Amino acid sequence: MAKYSINYSCGHTGVEQLYGPGKERARHIEWAEKSALCPECYAAKRAADRAAEIEKEKAAAKISASQLTDAGVVLHPLRGSDKQITWATDIRAKLMADPNYGWAVKAVAEAAGEKALESKYWIDRRSRIDSNWMIMAMPGNWSDAWTAKDAHEANAVWMILRSALGNDMVSVDRMIAALAKLAIIPVGDKPVATDSNTMDRVNWLVRSWSHTGLVESLTAKIEAQAAAVKPAIERAAELSSAREELSAAVRDRRDAESMRREAAHDMEQAANLKRLADETRQKAVADIDAQAMIIGALGTIVGATWRVTSILDGGTRVYAVNDRAEGKEFSAASWQAAHRAWIEIENHKQTV
Ligand SMILES: [Zn+2]
Repeated sequence: MAKYSINYSCGHTGVEQLYGPGKERARHIEWAEKSALCPECYAAKRAADRAAEIEKEKAAAKISASQLTDAGVVLHPLRGSDKQITWATDIRAKLMADPNYGWAVKAVAEAAGEKALESKYWIDRRSRIDSNWMIMAMPGNWSDAWTAKDAHEANAVWMILRSALGNDMVSVDRMIAALAKLAIIPVGDKPVATDSNTMDRVNWLVRSWSHTGLVESLTAKIEAQAAAVKPAIERAAELSSAREELSAAVRDRRDAESMRREAAHDMEQAANLKRLADETRQKAVADIDAQAMIIGALGTIVGATWRVTSILDGGTRVYAVNDRAEGKEFSAASWQAAHRAWIEIENHKQTV
């Protein structure tokens, strides 16, 4: 181990500590003095290279941006810090101007609405062909893809997927199965854009998505969604069985109520019948009372016991009220008349 003074190619001198065999140290010193820069000059050169690279990218972005503008694409001003805006504006121009997938970027970004006006949107999606910005377009909650107000971006991605996988691929499961098949086919070379190979480019884009985590991302989202809704489904099943029990109980109660009503109805009918029978009996009694009374009935009239008899007078039935004790008898066409006659005679006797 030893320290060596080196005269670098830039003309500056520095000290380096070198290790290894003497031959290698000599070779290194020879190379450094011929080609290498001193650490300060090296750092300055790297900074200058990087600045030049940035300038080049900016110039490319400007060209992309002017091409897009010429093509009638409106590039709205982005929001964010000055630094973010500069960076994001370049990313957007390059992504959108790409001959292979620029159309997809435009479709998804247009659907993203306000979100795509944030610099962060483009900085997060700077990785271009990987499925990152596509996966990011997918909503956190799977079912939101169809229902959320701001799901247009996700729907734009679906449109791209569907156009590549066949329009009948409406089911998510079938979509994933189709993507999984693509994921085992090599992505292949990026097709050079022509006017007639749009579908080739769509297919290539979707194939490259299928290779960069799209299948896993979609599957994970669906599984997370299923796990999230599982308790709700179980709860719904519980509620449903509780509801069935309840409705069975309601049905039983209704049956019991209906039986009770029928029984009440039967009872009411029985009461009606009884009332009708009573009325009929009373009416019958009223109708037959007199006759019932005269058939040898004993009765008490003004404190004396009388027997109601019937006698035949010249072939006509007449009725008599007969005081057995005194042997008195009053007869008339009806026993009531005989009774009234007897009462009148008794009253007359008392007033005389
Ligand atoms: Zn130097």
